[in-house]
Amino acid sequence: MKKKNLGLNTVCTHTGEVKDTQFKGAVSPIYLSSSYAFEDIDEKRYPRYFNTPNQQALCKKVAALEHTEDALIFGSGMAAISTSLLAFLHKGDHIVLQNALYGGTMNLVLEEFDKYGIEYTFTESLDIKDFKKAIQKNTKVIYIETPSNPLLKVTDIRKVAKLAKKHKLITMIDNTFASPVNQLPATLGIDIIIHSATKYFGGHSDILAGAVAASAEHINHIFQLAKNLGGSLSDFTVWMLERSMKTMGIRVKAQNKNALKLANYLEKHEAVSKVYYPGLKSHEDYELAKSQMAGFGGMMSFELKDEYNVSKFFKSLKLIKPSMSLAGVESTVLSPTQTSHALLTPEERKKQGIADGLIRFSVGIEDKKDIIADLNQAIKKAKKK
Ligand SMILES: *Cc1c(COP(=O)(O)O)cnc(C)c1O
Repeated sequence: MKKKNLGLNTVCTHTGEVKDTQFKGAVSPIYLSSSYAFEDIDEKRYPRYFNTPNQQALCKKVAALEHTEDALIFGSGMAAISTSLLAFLHKGDHIVLQNALYGGTMNLVLEEFDKYGIEYTFTESLDIKDFKKAIQKNTKVIYIETPSNPLLKVTDIRKVAKLAKKHKLITMIDNTFASPVNQLPATLGIDIIIHSATKYFGGHSDILAGAVAASAEHINHIFQLAKNLGGSLSDFTVWMLERSMKTMGIRVKAQNKNALKLANYLEKHEAVSKVYYPGLKSHEDYELAKSQMAGFGGMMSFELKDEYNVSKFFKSLKLIKPSMSLAGVESTVLSPTQTSHALLTPEERKKQGIADGLIRFSVGIEDKKDIIADLNQAIKKAKKK
């Protein structure tokens, strides 16, 4: 069997596993050593060098999933993002970032980059013209995230990759929301693919981790900084993540299916004024999403009409959990107004399209009828008298 031809679920289940040659166990043994012999051995192993047997095994799985030569696993998504950015950006360099980004990435840029003398421009919109406009003489990197949080806007990956090639810039994408099940940026021309593995890779809301996939050359470049910054993942969690990723293909496909059905259902719901889901024909980026995604993902947002009290809605839910994070097998909801975008003024939120009634919905794998029943009983109780 040629490795290249293995299907997604086969890669999730098998690729990279550490063979248990001693006892022939079915799963990868865990190697917890933080100290390895140095004599007669070519590779100096140490967990912070990202080269323990379990770390290397998981890197192979991530690289195979993202169709890249190599990968690195980090202690968090932000460790993966910060290390990748700082590996390619030096004092006096400039980066173009899309305007809609994960809050932690935004904070990293706004709170830290000045200290390092790194210049940055956020695009005015996701239109390729605005990316073009933002490029300067000292630009080194273009950074995108699609679909975006929380309005699920879609950036044209092919166009960004083409623009970057023309200007000899490195492209990076945060591929967390889509996961490699739904989107393969390397096949669309992107250089460096970053994940919060806390989300769909882990999938059970019990792991904090990050991943970067790219060419062997780019990964080696990121590794040189990574071992100095020290953001590696403990081997216990590496093993948990390998176990979790075996089901990523079937989990995410189940979430795609549930989300598409729920988006269609909510769009017709009398209590809902708007649904944001790239798989809906009414979504402004539907055609673009279809052209670059294999599935539309498990993330959506919807707006409750003004007659409904959002806090009461959250308190009334019995199955769906109001929760800060996302992408678990369980359905969760969050109010951007009360959490990620709480520090903005109502006017600033409005400008970004974030209404007070907006609810971000991470769709789980529960039976659709049970999710719908829970939404409906909570909506009923949330109606203002
Ligand atoms: C959660 C998240 C991150 C940050 O990942 P951590 O694992 O929390 O450090 C980055 N990007 C996106 C899109 C996320 O959802």
